[in-house]
Amino acid sequence: MNQEHESIVTQAISWIEESRRVVVFTGAGMSTESGLPTFRGQDGLWQGYHPQQLATAEAFERSPEVVRSWYRWRRDLVEKAQPHPGHLALANWCLHSNQNSCVITQNVDGLHQRSGCPDVIELHGSILHDRCHRCGHTSTDLDVITCRCGGGFRPAVVWFGERMPEPEMIRSQQVIDSCELLIVIGTSAVVHPAAGLIFRALDMGASVIEVNPDPVLPAPVVRILGTAIDVLPRIFRICSMEEDAGGPVAGANPDEEEGVQ
Ligand SMILES: [Zn+2]
Repeated sequence: MNQEHESIVTQAISWIEESRRVVVFTGAGMSTESGLPTFRGQDGLWQGYHPQQLATAEAFERSPEVVRSWYRWRRDLVEKAQPHPGHLALANWCLHSNQNSCVITQNVDGLHQRSGCPDVIELHGSILHDRCHRCGHTSTDLDVITCRCGGGFRPAVVWFGERMPEPEMIRSQQVIDSCELLIVIGTSAVVHPAAGLIFRALDMGASVIEVNPDPVLPAPVVRILGTAIDVLPRIFRICSMEEDAGGPVAGANPDEEEGVQ
């Protein structure tokens, strides 16, 4: 088992080194090791509400203050959370590789950007901004709850039953269509159409690696059992160090990362 795991990790490292275009796709599992809940199952309850009762347009229209206070609580968690060594190893590699690498994420917490990733596509929006529910005007002043148009400000995220933002979907499809390697980290692959991007990459002939403690993707996906903290510093740090000719890996240790609050 250990030997098999090691040979899969070695294979992943050589794929990363050899691919000219690499796309990374992350889901909730990427953020759990920073202490952010996934909102699945019983753990996802907040004051007796299930997230599916809160993260919908209908819930906001019915009880905007309940929905806003759930998001205030979640923003507070995000502000206190720190990018973990897996985030930092990935960001460091993105910054130093010349493989047109970009990160597509289902997460709304901004941790990839805080860890230094230069190119992040947020498929489900961002919890750190608001958007007018009526006219779409965006706002960074989260204390203002009413837009000039009279509509209510809501978190700029994609709720259950809502469409993905079109520019992000189009760009994701473009980078997926031209990638040689897709690395999927910590997603249960059940949320469509985002998960459809993974199968699109396979259809287009890309190699796909899944990093997950409980892998869900079928062969020919190469599956590395483990969490982001277990696996990413190993596969990305080695690649970065080789490209840096053995130099120190800035930001691979969270204690050394000054840019992260
Ligand atoms: Zn408005």
